[in-house]
Amino acid sequence: MNTRIPSKVKNHIKLLEAALDNVNAYIFTKDLEGRYTYVNQAVLTLFDKTFDEVVGFDDSHFFDLKISNQIKENDKEVMHTKQAVVAEETNFVKATDELRVFRSNKEPLLDYGGNVIGICGISTDITHEKQLQKTIADQRHMLDAVLNNIDAHVYMKSSDRRFLFVNQRVAELFGLPADQIIGKKDTDILPQNVADHFWVSDKKVFETNEKQSVEEVVQDKDGSLLRYLSVKIPYMHNGDELTPALIGFSTDITELFQLKEEFKRQARTDALTGLYNRRYFFEQAEKEFNRATRHDEDIALISIDIDHFKDVNDKFGHPTGDAVLQSIAANLQQMIRVEDTLARMGGEEFSIFLPKTSKVHAKAMAERICQYHSDFPCKGLGDDTHKVTLSLGVTSLLEQDNNFDNIFSRADRALYRAKQSGRNQVFLDQSTTE
Ligand code: GH3
Ligand code: MG
Ligand code: MG
Repeated sequence: MNTRIPSKVKNHIKLLEAALDNVNAYIFTKDLEGRYTYVNQAVLTLFDKTFDEVVGFDDSHFFDLKISNQIKENDKEVMHTKQAVVAEETNFVKATDELRVFRSNKEPLLDYGGNVIGICGISTDITHEKQLQKTIADQRHMLDAVLNNIDAHVYMKSSDRRFLFVNQRVAELFGLPADQIIGKKDTDILPQNVADHFWVSDKKVFETNEKQSVEEVVQDKDGSLLRYLSVKIPYMHNGDELTPALIGFSTDITELFQLKEEFKRQARTDALTGLYNRRYFFEQAEKEFNRATRHDEDIALISIDIDHFKDVNDKFGHPTGDAVLQSIAANLQQMIRVEDTLARMGGEEFSIFLPKTSKVHAKAMAERICQYHSDFPCKGLGDDTHKVTLSLGVTSLLEQDNNFDNIFSRADRALYRAKQSGRNQVFLDQSTTE
């Protein structure tokens, strides 16, 4: 039979075979029974067989069809429908003991009468590609899980203020699904002033190409202030082309900020009366002392001690004593000016620091305070008969004062004199500048 094939045609076939053996794909033909009638070198290599060991045999010899029968099903479909089938097939290769994924393109082979006599196919191994796709999908899934569960608002923005990515938190904050935010400008999504506030540090990232850490304050729907600690880092975004972008992480620190403020407030407050405490008073007074001496300004100080307070406790009990302290603190608070600093220095002692105030004016205020308590019964004592009086010492800044302690000691001595002189009175320190 071979002798009838002209040598020109034979050469042509040889050439074609050589070409097919060098194609990076599996090429084959099968008869109606599914037996191979031709395979290229790639198929032989895959099966680890010679041409004669393959041709005339069906797939049951080379693939474990119990594990995957897709190959036979696709072959059958091509033969029955006379239509080409393009499909992904997962086949278990006996020679290598492994599952491989192929993209197969199978077509019916027809005789001159149009009858199906078999199939021809070309398959490429896409196992590696599929693994990569799976790895990428797995990584994306993991990244999504991390980004959507992280306790921060995570976003990516371009230098023209467009969102390139937002996590679930951002979507919830803006009240829009993520896909309605991505691609939009911040000014399309947020009120202009909020967008512009964010843009201040966004812009800095693009200008400096450096990480920025900032506190951002936004008003929510109900008007309360939300505080964020935002870290924004420059990032080259690989979209259609490489473009500058930023990745931002904003953490809600509203509660933390409020706690910090509350701690600060507590640290300077006397728990019983709500007035400033001794430590804060000294801090402020020292600052004011330095300022006043630099600017050659007056300062005055009033020291106050409740008269016979032990008797109040003894007569009415300690809790009532506390109520008296609160009541007197409230009176004092009413009687000072906004610029004055009033503190409970401890026990039943109070101090008032008066900036830019002369001794004379301070004395006048002390007299008013003294008089008030001498005239009116004390609220904390329950009925309207008991009065609780005060003794007050007044002094002011002298040229020779080196620090606030000098003034404080003088006021204390003046207070002692008021006590000695019979209580319920003001004693004005008479020291003068040397
Ligand atoms: P005077 O100052 O007029 O000489 O007499 P006094 O009775 O006020 O004398 P002293 O300063 O020695 O006593 C102060 C009293 O204040 C003693 C203490 O029991 C009472 N005291 C101090 N801190 C508190 C407090 O937080 N609550 C109550 N209820 N009493 C306090
Ligand atoms: Mg005392
Ligand atoms: Mg006292």
